[in-house]
Amino acid sequence: MHRETKVLVIGTGFSGLGMAVELRRRGEHDFVVLEKAADLGGTWRDNSYPGCACDVPSHMYSFSFELNPKWSRMFARQGEIFDYLQRVADKYRLRPHIRFNTKVSGARWDDEAKRWHVTTEQGDTYTATALVAGVGALHIPNVPELPGIENFTGRTFHSAQWDHDYDLTGKRVAVVGTGASAIQFVPKIADRVGSMKIFQRTPPWIMPKADREITEREQRLFRALPFTQRLYRNFVYWVRESSALGFAVNPKIMQFAQGIALRHMKKQVPDPKLREKLKPGYTMGCKRVLISNDYYPALSRPNVDLVTDKISEVREKSIVDSAGVEHEVDVIIYGTGFHVVDSFDYLDIQGKGGVDLAKQWREKGIETYYGITVSGFPNLFFLLGPNTGLGHNSVVFMIESQIRYIAQCLRLLETHRAAELDVRLEAQQEFNSELQGKLTKGVWTQGGCQSWYLDAQGVNRTVWPGFTWRYWMRTKRVRAEDYVLTTAPRVKASR
Ligand SMILES: Cc1cc2nc3c(=O)[nH]c(=O)nc-3n(C[C@H](O)[C@H](O)[C@H](O)COP(=O)(O)OP(=O)(O)OC[C@H]3O[C@@H](n4cnc5c(N)ncnc54)[C@H](O)[C@@H]3O)c2cc1C
Repeated sequence: MHRETKVLVIGTGFSGLGMAVELRRRGEHDFVVLEKAADLGGTWRDNSYPGCACDVPSHMYSFSFELNPKWSRMFARQGEIFDYLQRVADKYRLRPHIRFNTKVSGARWDDEAKRWHVTTEQGDTYTATALVAGVGALHIPNVPELPGIENFTGRTFHSAQWDHDYDLTGKRVAVVGTGASAIQFVPKIADRVGSMKIFQRTPPWIMPKADREITEREQRLFRALPFTQRLYRNFVYWVRESSALGFAVNPKIMQFAQGIALRHMKKQVPDPKLREKLKPGYTMGCKRVLISNDYYPALSRPNVDLVTDKISEVREKSIVDSAGVEHEVDVIIYGTGFHVVDSFDYLDIQGKGGVDLAKQWREKGIETYYGITVSGFPNLFFLLGPNTGLGHNSVVFMIESQIRYIAQCLRLLETHRAAELDVRLEAQQEFNSELQGKLTKGVWTQGGCQSWYLDAQGVNRTVWPGFTWRYWMRTKRVRAEDYVLTTAPRVKASR
């Protein structure tokens, strides 16, 4: 099948759905959204592991144009966020635009026709004036290549591909990794498994979680007086925004928060030997700061062991650590996160002159303009692209800023009757040197850790350095002078 469309959007997470809503609001009907899975929801469709929840309060971790007075908890669980996204798709009548089970395999810019040619693994092709990639950064599970894993006869799965058919009751479980997902699912399964060995490489900083149910009364108030919910959202936003001071301005400020985290640990972990293993040796914020009230207590259970020696070998029914201890296990669960800085390697995008985006980024480093546009790749827009992730606030705020920016770019194309909008290389370079200058002063570089924020060269290609309102201000209006707008070659009428 071949289809021509004005705007082609990839993905149906917060990014793709938000973009589709904006297009509909602009009265645009000529757009298609491609989704590789059978359902929408992105992160919140894939991550159905026990205990999965957001770690930014729900009143902030949601669209500003679609506040949800019915959030049942401060930090909603996966099912509720998934339902919320389904409701957004229904309310804004997005489903007729979505093609499910359609995985984009490649996109090529046609310089003559000034169009993107997009191919899918299912053999369909699309031609589009603009291509919006809302493919997400945390959707390709990162499964470590453990030595000898091919000999393991038990079950293995990643937290983002939870095997709900596998009954963990009484099983000997190995958990690899102690990041954001692991600290959510470990407490939820610890009481039903026979034994659990948690293999930790680097301990995370864990803060208390200010979670609670949102009462019926509060929900009624939010429904009756929507401005109260808006006020509360703003309050959450500014509280979280203030923490950017420690991340980006002066990492020493983190000492205060570290004190809270250490007291939290001391209160919840009575065993000083276990506490020693759990004490991070880097500045808070260098890796994602986690929140939990039930992870530490789960570690103190008699059937749970924290192993800090590296995994040296996997055998048929066991894992051997670097101290030579053999741990017999029935199942290995990977809580090892996602491919992040290399997540774009999986998309084959060719811009002007056939330049391969992934190759260019591998060789020269990932550079974009505000994480949205890339010089030499006209009419291509990223949502939640490089250096727009956050450690301290809701990425939905960033996504919405980007959606507004892209909508303006599309308008620019129309008002200038242009066929091509390409960011000037000088603007992109200037932006990146300023960005990297700021990032090197931040906790991600100064904090003394290795994290998924950094690429192989240790350069931060993932997070936005600092306040999100600054990002909002700077992307509020598209500076036309930063772009080259090219009109389509006139087709001569034949007599
Ligand atoms: C467990 C978990 C908890 C999180 N909690 C928070 C939080 O509390 N606060 C926060 O700010 N962030 C959080 N995040 C980050 C989260 O990923 C983002 O907040 C947000 O959901 C990203 O939305 P997205 O639409 O950009 O990407 P995704 O939700 O990943 O959606 C991308 C979509 O694109 C589709 N897709 C990808 N490639 C292709 C292709 N080639 N062809 C077709 N379709 C494709 C995918 O199937 C997917 O549906 C969390 C992440 C995880 C994994």
